[in-house]
Amino acid sequence: MNLNEIIATDKAYYMNTFGDRTPVCFEYGKGISLYSTDGKEYKDFMSGIAVSSLGHSHPKLVSALKEQAQMLLHTSSLYYIKQQAMLAKELCDSSCADKAFFCNSGAEANEGAIKLVKNYFYKKDMPHKSEIITLINSFHGRTLTTVAATGQEKYQKPYKPLTPGFIHVPINDINILKQHINNNTAAIMLELVQGEGGVYPIDTEYLKEVKRLCEDNEIILVYDEIQTGIGRTGKLFGYQSYGVEPDIFTLAKGLGGGIPIGAICAKDFVAVGFVPGDHGTTFGGNPFCCSAGLAVLAAIKDEGLVENAYTVGQYAKECLESLKLEFPEIIEVRGLGLMLGIELTEGLAATLHAKLFEKGYLTGCIAGKILRILPPLIVTKADIDGFINTLKLCIKEIK
Ligand SMILES: *Cc1c(COP(=O)(O)O)cnc(C)c1O
Repeated sequence: MNLNEIIATDKAYYMNTFGDRTPVCFEYGKGISLYSTDGKEYKDFMSGIAVSSLGHSHPKLVSALKEQAQMLLHTSSLYYIKQQAMLAKELCDSSCADKAFFCNSGAEANEGAIKLVKNYFYKKDMPHKSEIITLINSFHGRTLTTVAATGQEKYQKPYKPLTPGFIHVPINDINILKQHINNNTAAIMLELVQGEGGVYPIDTEYLKEVKRLCEDNEIILVYDEIQTGIGRTGKLFGYQSYGVEPDIFTLAKGLGGGIPIGAICAKDFVAVGFVPGDHGTTFGGNPFCCSAGLAVLAAIKDEGLVENAYTVGQYAKECLESLKLEFPEIIEVRGLGLMLGIELTEGLAATLHAKLFEKGYLTGCIAGKILRILPPLIVTKADIDGFINTLKLCIKEIK
């Protein structure tokens, strides 16, 4: 099948949830590069939306998957699973969590975290505590309850009535948050850097104040680390950049390096909310997916990729800041580690995004005004130089 045939077949048989996609299909990948069916190389500065943390075809991940596939793919939750126990230990040993639970996606991890919060208060005989505060412009997933948690009307409209009990407040505004806290508040759930919402980081002082409010009012603090987790922000977990621990955090995206796996991670006092029968999964935490998680974490450790994300991310931000001095079209550069957003004058981001694609760079575009990059954690300073030079060229061309 050539590209036109692939597109025609997609249009005829695949549900139209993604509209006209970028007209390319990839055949294989290596390192930070993807190669299209028509033989062109693209530098992947999106990592499949923060998923391909080790880039493509990383030898350690590939060999771990090959080995595991030959041994065993799946057994079910009826039996003990070595890789599941090991991955849970690994995540708990390297974070503030005491227990983990695995599922298949980000939305499912958040859905599970919300169930855990509700169950925790149910078990404490405080079922009135059922309201969850999230932020405007947040993104927490596509299931009905995580759509309710997501503070963006456009994702909610067709699905009303939604799961009740979610309240949305503006980011980094402690006074408005305080106004919405009452005896029924069960949890505050937030992203440390809003990803899909436009790359908006949380303020450290705000987060410290949120933590204090949670402690004073018996409220569970939940971080959605589905995008910020696993090295993305220059620490293994985003909260480590802030020094403010959550009670629960969720992971997915980068954890499997391309294999679907999500996780709910929690401190013991809240994890006890789940007792046998309260929650479950068929595929979640199977030997294959957990071996991917283990291989990703091992490669990150062996190759110093968290440190790399920090230093190369810092370097990329500095380069973008100096580009901003040169081009008034760049309004703001923001983000943490290798999670960066470049806000541009109205409409420009979409044009730049298309130009960069023509020149072999995959980037993201939010609301037509924010260009987003999420390169793999293996990206080098030389790769960043290549991107910055191309970006500069593109801006000059459209001026
Ligand atoms: C991507 C994302 C999700 C949803 O993850 P899926 O695997 O698509 O369900 C939830 N929260 C955040 C912060 C995300 O970036």
